[in-house]
Amino acid sequence: MSIIWSKNPYTGEKIRSYEKDTSHSIKQKLELIQSVQEEWFNKTIKERCELLENVSELLLERKEEYAMLMTSEMGKPISQSIAEIEKCAWACDFYAYNAEDLLADEIIETDAEESFISYDPLGCILAVMPWNYPFWQVIRFAAPTLTAGNTGILKHAQNVPGCARALEKLFLDAGYPKGCFQSILAGHEEIEKLIANETIKAVTLTGSEKAGRGIAQTAGKNLKKTVLELGGNNACIVFEDADLEKHLDTMVKARMQNTGQSCIAAKRFIVCDELYDTFVQKFTEATKQLVSGDPKEKETYIGVLAREDLAKSLKEQVDKSIEKGAQLTMGNKMEGAYFQPTILTEVVPGMPAFDEETFGPVAAIIRAKDRADAIALANNSKFGLGAMLFTEDIEGSLDLIPRISDGAFFINDMVKSDPRLPFGGTKASGYGRELSREGILAFVNKKTVYIK
Ligand code: NDP
Repeated sequence: MSIIWSKNPYTGEKIRSYEKDTSHSIKQKLELIQSVQEEWFNKTIKERCELLENVSELLLERKEEYAMLMTSEMGKPISQSIAEIEKCAWACDFYAYNAEDLLADEIIETDAEESFISYDPLGCILAVMPWNYPFWQVIRFAAPTLTAGNTGILKHAQNVPGCARALEKLFLDAGYPKGCFQSILAGHEEIEKLIANETIKAVTLTGSEKAGRGIAQTAGKNLKKTVLELGGNNACIVFEDADLEKHLDTMVKARMQNTGQSCIAAKRFIVCDELYDTFVQKFTEATKQLVSGDPKEKETYIGVLAREDLAKSLKEQVDKSIEKGAQLTMGNKMEGAYFQPTILTEVVPGMPAFDEETFGPVAAIIRAKDRADAIALANNSKFGLGAMLFTEDIEGSLDLIPRISDGAFFINDMVKSDPRLPFGGTKASGYGRELSREGILAFVNKKTVYIK
């Protein structure tokens, strides 16, 4: 029997061991899903919403416990872990309140007596999830998908097995039928087999571009639908008229929250020449104020990266960018899984800090000749998750909306997910949308009904 250990990335200590699933245990879990599917499908949406309300209540009741679990397993500062659990409860409340409307038949006038779209569940959906928001990423999938009448299997990242187990138990404790939402701890080969299994009807993945390509390939071979939420290299465009007094803290947070390990973080700050030097100075001053330390302490803002190997890869990206001419304004020191907040200036295309996703507290600052150059630089990325723009010229910037090639465009705020708004990317950031009406309709059979 094979086991995996969860490990605290701040202390380096082992936390506890978990048994990995075997082909046999996965088969049993699939059988359990088949036995529960019909019961779950036959519940009314209202009944499913009541259970989702229980999930929300339990999340809030247990928020300290769950927050500490995330912090121990992946090093997220505790105050940010608590905020993550509260956001999970919000998403549950949103769907518990709105699902009946969102899933109601949609009447369409035709020459039929009656014609409409009915939204039926697909069956069991596999969710492959990352460690960076161990609860939020899962709840963002599970709340709408289960409420639409599907069942779910969670394959969480190897380094957060305790979170995976806690999430499975959360749904059971909330009153969901046994088997409706299960977690498996398994390697990539098992996942490949699982995707091919006929019980699995579709797959959703949040993770790296590499994982996206692998999973989409397997799913494609088996004709299974996928939703892919992959990496990002979001531009934060700062026009020369931006109000730094008002927005600087938001810009720092957009890069540094979750110790920089967020797909939608601002990774490239593209600043118009006129404001460039002032921006660098103020951004650096503000970044220096961020408190690094033990993720379990309430005042800590910068914890550690989720694994030491991630810190090493980040260091390589920063070092290569410096070799290619980027200026190091602060940071670039690491110790274990800790990576000091880092600012690189005079970053240009061709450097890893511009071309690649940097998954940690590294801000790349890029000089733009003017507004048009800033927009061109922002779109110069293989990723397309989101872009943000800071300017006082709101009226003028509305014309830019169609010119931004990302899945989201935020003006005078950071790109953030919100249960009421669709979330997802373009290009190498993936496809499909989560959250809002789009999220609950991601895994349903949009059935045309025609009655003459
Ligand atoms: P991965 O993309 O490798 O992992 C995310 C999830 O996908 C994990 O559950 C992982 O499982 C699983 N996975 C990866 N490849 C496969 C595969 N071929 N078949 C089945 N499951 C797979 O992220 P990493 O942890 O390696 O992080 C590296 C980079 O990924 C980061 O630097 C960042 O760029 C990006 N990333 C983006 C995220 C986002 O929110 N968009 C979130 C996390 C990472 P396992 O843990 O078992 O390998």
